[in-house]
Amino acid sequence: MGKRSKELFLKAQEIIPGGVNSPVRAGRSVGVDPPFIRRADGCYLWDMEGKRYIDYVCSWGPMILGHRHPEVIQAISDALENGTSYGAPTELELNLAKMIVETVPSVEMVRMVNSGTEATMSAIRLARGFTNRDMIIKFDGCYHGHNDSSLVSAGSGMATFGIPGSPGIPADLARLSISLPFNSLEAVEKAVEKFGAQIAAVIVEPIAGNMGVVLPEEGFLEGLREITKENGILLIFDEVITGFRVSPGGAQELYNIMPDLTCLGKIIGGGLPVGAYGGRKDIMSQVAPDGNIYQAGTLSGNPLAMAAGMATLMILKNKEIYTRLEEKSRFLFSGLKDAAVKAGVDIVINRAGSMGSLFFTTSPVVDFTSAKATNASKYIPFYKEMLAQRIYLAPSPFESIFISLAHNEEIMKKTIDFAFNAFKKL
Ligand SMILES: *Cc1c(COP(=O)(O)O)cnc(C)c1O
Repeated sequence: MGKRSKELFLKAQEIIPGGVNSPVRAGRSVGVDPPFIRRADGCYLWDMEGKRYIDYVCSWGPMILGHRHPEVIQAISDALENGTSYGAPTELELNLAKMIVETVPSVEMVRMVNSGTEATMSAIRLARGFTNRDMIIKFDGCYHGHNDSSLVSAGSGMATFGIPGSPGIPADLARLSISLPFNSLEAVEKAVEKFGAQIAAVIVEPIAGNMGVVLPEEGFLEGLREITKENGILLIFDEVITGFRVSPGGAQELYNIMPDLTCLGKIIGGGLPVGAYGGRKDIMSQVAPDGNIYQAGTLSGNPLAMAAGMATLMILKNKEIYTRLEEKSRFLFSGLKDAAVKAGVDIVINRAGSMGSLFFTTSPVVDFTSAKATNASKYIPFYKEMLAQRIYLAPSPFESIFISLAHNEEIMKKTIDFAFNAFKKL
């Protein structure tokens, strides 16, 4: 890390917990202090020293078009001309809502919020209010933001730091959340048998992206749909990562499964803070002021965020983009796999469209237990070597690699060559 980043990080640690506003950013699990970033463009980031990195974090998912896409920047600056926040309804909100309802198969009505966390928190509250039940089922290693009900055996930073649950969440509330192994319908059947009439919702990342990428096995999502339907339980797809990422309509479109509620975030904000939750009209119409389930937000539907999201989704309307992203992603991940084989390092790659991850193991990674059983310690020297070669990966083995439209073959070829060097040193 450069001198300026080091100075800033020291100061930041005095007045911001860990020096960061989101824990994984601090780089503790890989033992590397984070470079401070000054600007971004396309697939690149620049740190305080002006060092340029190839970015595979993409702001943890939102930047599917790459940084500073001209149409997104234009939309934000056009919106800026008219002010930054009104706290009143706008046409921009309606446009983005329309776009989401038209694109995400199960969503008939949608409410904008300011983050993925707010989206899952609100969807869980709505499910509880609608069913008049208190318990929820989630899956180990899935991350649904830091709302109290889902922060049990969670992925992302919780997986990175090996934290099973967080102090500050009342045990009485945590008790209402059952966490089960991802991909285990049997576990779900058992839990439903025991607690069925008390369970409001099953919430799942249809493609898990917060314990590294883990794909649903054939029949898993279909099975969840069936079990929940039979037992009056709502099925919530947390598509905060997968929405507009694995296909425009998210994983539900890819696998052709209709959840009752869907959570969105990341891409739909085009790099500004946005989340949304939506779904069946009979459920969504229970939200205030139509219904009495309360949820609100001072900055919800913020005009700049709506403009950035809309510009992004307008570009993603062109389905050919997903073909291009798929080709790019196949090129990168098959190249990484070949490089590892050539270097004599065992890796398993899990990938869905332009999100994927590599695990240091020979066994399939199908759930949180198998993800944690990989040789995660090998990720540390790999990460360090890649960073030294100015490839910016997530500072944790339990996160996804994201590819944007701005990643071209030449850049990815360079990445693969660097990865080969890094693998050889392991
Ligand atoms: C990132 C993420 C969230 C939380 O979104 P924030 O905007 O960080 O609050 C929720 N669910 C999933 C699947 C995510 O990846």
